[in-house]
Amino acid sequence: RNHGGAKVIHPVIAIDGPAGAGKSTVARELARRLGFFLLDTGAIYRSLALFAQQNGISWADGAKLGTLAETLPIRFGRGSEDGAVFLGEQVVTTAIRSPEVSLGASQVSAHPEVRAMLLGLQRQLARSGPCVVEGRDIGTVVLPDAPLKIFLTASPEVRAQRRQKELEARGVKVTGKVRVFHRP
Ligand code: C5P
Repeated sequence: RNHGGAKVIHPVIAIDGPAGAGKSTVARELARRLGFFLLDTGAIYRSLALFAQQNGISWADGAKLGTLAETLPIRFGRGSEDGAVFLGEQVVTTAIRSPEVSLGASQVSAHPEVRAMLLGLQRQLARSGPCVVEGRDIGTVVLPDAPLKIFLTASPEVRAQRRQKELEARGVKVTGKVRVFHRP
């Protein structure tokens, strides 16, 4: 796609959707089959949460987190390091998936300062080559002009079950039966 006759951008596939819809699985498989880079935007929020913890910054401090996000030394592995996430010299691929960091990522992502700061980083990473970009606000906020935008969803029952399995796989006990209430 040609923007204003100036620079030609790479093919970008944006995948949005609610938790438990299967975004990560679809994005990973799509990227693998197409040979595109997979940009997992959740990993950015997770890395920021971990980085804040390492720097003694509270997950509730939006102002400080916004400043920290400006210099977040995140790097996604390519080629033989595909799927790896680096924070400076550290390999944080597994550490950012812990239940504690998951909670931190969710808290950190609620601050407008953080979202604003990470917008540029996400756009810059998406510009680096053909990619599949996955996350809940990708098609709407981050890359509204992506040539292909997918909104992936699933029935509430399936989403709840997938979420339960995902949490259990991370060692979080989900007690009780999952019940879905439909709102009109
Ligand atoms: O998708 P994942 O579970 O890795 O995302 C971790 C957290 O980061 C989410 O709970 C959400 O709060 C936040 N996030 C976000 N916007 C994105 C991706 C993730 O706010 N595009």
